[in-house]
Amino acid sequence: MQQYRHSKKREHILSYIKSVKTHPTANIIYDEMKPIFPNLSMGTVYRNLQILTNQGKISKLDFGSTFDHYDGYTKEHSHFVCTLCQCVYDIQGDYPNVEQVQLITTHQIDGCLVKYYGLCQDCLGKDERSN
Ligand SMILES: [Zn+2]
Ligand SMILES: [Zn+2]
Repeated sequence: MQQYRHSKKREHILSYIKSVKTHPTANIIYDEMKPIFPNLSMGTVYRNLQILTNQGKISKLDFGSTFDHYDGYTKEHSHFVCTLCQCVYDIQGDYPNVEQVQLITTHQIDGCLVKYYGLCQDCLGKDERSN
C-alpha cells in the first residue's frame, strides 16, 4: 500500500467522521475543520478524504445524488437517505443476505449497496407542523 506522510489535518478529518453518525459531505467536513485549520482549502479536504478512502479507514457513499457522503463505519451496512434533507442514516443488519444471493446466482458477490429512501423523522415532523 502507498505510504502517506502523517498529517494532522487528515487525523482531525478522520476522527470527526468517526465521531458522527451523519455521514457528512466534503462541504460539511470543510465547515467543521475550518475553525481548527484557518488555512484549510477545499482541495485539501478532498485530497485527504481520497487518501482515507484508499486506506480503507472511511467509505465514500455514492448514492448518485449531488454530493458524496463519507462514512466512518466501514463494516458493510445499508443506508436510509431522506429525499427531502438528504440526511443519511445507518440501517443495521444484512438485507439482503449476500451469501444467499451468491448461492442463488453463482456470481461472485463482492458487496452490496442497499439504499432505503423516504422521509426522515425530522422532515416528517416539519410536515406535520406546517399542516
Ligand atoms: Zn429529512
Ligand atoms: Zn453508514
